[in-house]
Amino acid sequence: MCGIIGYIGSENAAPIIIEGLKKLEYRGYDSAGIAVYEESTSQFNVVKQKGRISALESRLSSIPLDSHMGIGHTRWATHGEPSDINSHPHLGNKSKIAIVHNGIIENYKKLKERLERKGIVFVSQTDSEVIAQLAEYYYNGDPMDMVIKVANRLEGSYALGIMCADQPDTLIAIKKDNPLIIGVSDHGNFIASDVPAVLKHTNKVYYLDDKEIAVLKKGSVQFFNMDKEPISKSLETVTWTLDSAEKGEYQHFMLKEIMEQPKVLRDTIRSAIYGGDNQAIIDKIDIESFNKVVVTGCGSAYNAGVVAKYVFESLCRFPSLEVELASEFRYKDAVIDEKSLVILISQSGETADTIAAMREARAKGATTLAIVNVVGSTIAKESDYCLFTLAGPEIAVATTKAFSTQLAMLYILAVRFAAKLNKITKEKESELLSYVEDLPAKVDSILKQVDAIQKYASTCVVYKSIFFIGRNIDYAIALEGSLKLKEISYIHSEAYAGGELKHGTISLIEEDTLVVAISNCERLHGKLMSNVEQVISRGAKVLLVTKLKDVQPTDRLSVINIPDSFDLFSPSLSVIVLQLFSYYVAANKGANIDKPRNLAKSVTVE
Ligand code: GLU
Repeated sequence: MCGIIGYIGSENAAPIIIEGLKKLEYRGYDSAGIAVYEESTSQFNVVKQKGRISALESRLSSIPLDSHMGIGHTRWATHGEPSDINSHPHLGNKSKIAIVHNGIIENYKKLKERLERKGIVFVSQTDSEVIAQLAEYYYNGDPMDMVIKVANRLEGSYALGIMCADQPDTLIAIKKDNPLIIGVSDHGNFIASDVPAVLKHTNKVYYLDDKEIAVLKKGSVQFFNMDKEPISKSLETVTWTLDSAEKGEYQHFMLKEIMEQPKVLRDTIRSAIYGGDNQAIIDKIDIESFNKVVVTGCGSAYNAGVVAKYVFESLCRFPSLEVELASEFRYKDAVIDEKSLVILISQSGETADTIAAMREARAKGATTLAIVNVVGSTIAKESDYCLFTLAGPEIAVATTKAFSTQLAMLYILAVRFAAKLNKITKEKESELLSYVEDLPAKVDSILKQVDAIQKYASTCVVYKSIFFIGRNIDYAIALEGSLKLKEISYIHSEAYAGGELKHGTISLIEEDTLVVAISNCERLHGKLMSNVEQVISRGAKVLLVTKLKDVQPTDRLSVINIPDSFDLFSPSLSVIVLQLFSYYVAANKGANIDKPRNLAKSVTVE
């Protein structure tokens, strides 16, 4: 995970780097550090420490750093505890090379032992330090030779920013399996893990591909392959605005992103129905040529896949349909071939397990269809087809708007596939698409109930454990409700299919346990309400989220009504209540909502 940024230009690098790191903090926040090249001494000035970027920033207020080149890092530790010494940037023994690294070096032990035998002394426990030491060991005055030699020795994943103490005008970068963009502005050039880090300065970026070397100078950027041959790349214009990556009036990005959902849903739905780029892609997919569909992703993206399974099953009647965690799928030797369609869901397009699942599927001849939010990301580039959710930058670690746009895209796919497979008529197709189009306005009306949800949530901070139940499509979205709550509030929670309660879980229900029940499947409403009765009679309190208006609240049963909708698409509405519920429970606990402990947003390590 982690975020890296580098700058070379006419402005003072340190404040630019710190500001950029703040925009990348969602990627990791175990520690932060900066190295700048000090012209007067031709040395690196390094300041790094455990904790958040704000801690680094306050330390820097007493250490004036004046330089036109520097690199910075915000860490999500994989090797070596979060500590000052393990923080990046790392230097070689002689302080001739400084590096920042995002990723994991799998053969670091072997490399480290070899370098130690040559007398090189390591100071940290990280895998990353081996890169700095190796780079210094190989360096002969030509940074590109050094980078090529280093890259040829490293196994694993990396995005690297590198400075050499005797090259005051050169910043060098390379990546493999971790993202890196190159930003070009009128006052200087950047490397960064993600676009928001540079948006204040530029919306012109290059997306670096694996094993491409970028050589940045104050007024130029050049690219080379591993044979030192120049390559040309196209400069892309990013459509995200600076505002979209700022919190504005909201206390947290998560709340801002929840509130943005009607707009981003509208944008995404339009692009997939009304002649947008997404529609053109959907039109191209020959769904009849596949006999198996697998949907895969991690975390919330997997939960979107579980929703999709119910929708695809009901509308498309695929003879073989599976939903798999990407981390499992990649290693299970899946039975797939050229007649399989593998749908990959990932907000960042850089999720390591989902990338591996994509490569495994492609190696077996399957066709891959990605649903991704970030243009230029690895999954967007490598999948056979890619649909873009138009959620804009999502900064809060817990996904909300990206998840909602994934759901909308999956519904549209299901409807279009069902029509192509003649499982539904043209009229039914239009009717179902119109239900999808109705969703943003209905989401908007739920957001207007925010006060009632906030009030209820403020009474729930006392719970040690909260259960979520639902049946069918409501069970699928219960999984997401439970995940959202635990990731940001640290309250233990579990989601169960209502019918499964009696097979074990009901033993956990005791006096004043809270159960959140979701009921939007009309034909299963009675069954779910029986489950509600069962837990209430064992002492539970229940919050019922439902579009069905026949339930009266009691002292043990609270009800939040959501607008009526087509059953299969109701997860898009229930989830809004569940997001707000989780948000306000966490807010009332004073939790660090945008950056929950131990988590990072774009999980680019395995
Ligand atoms: N593996 C490196 C470390 O533990 C970098 C981790 C990251 O990419 O966040 O320092």
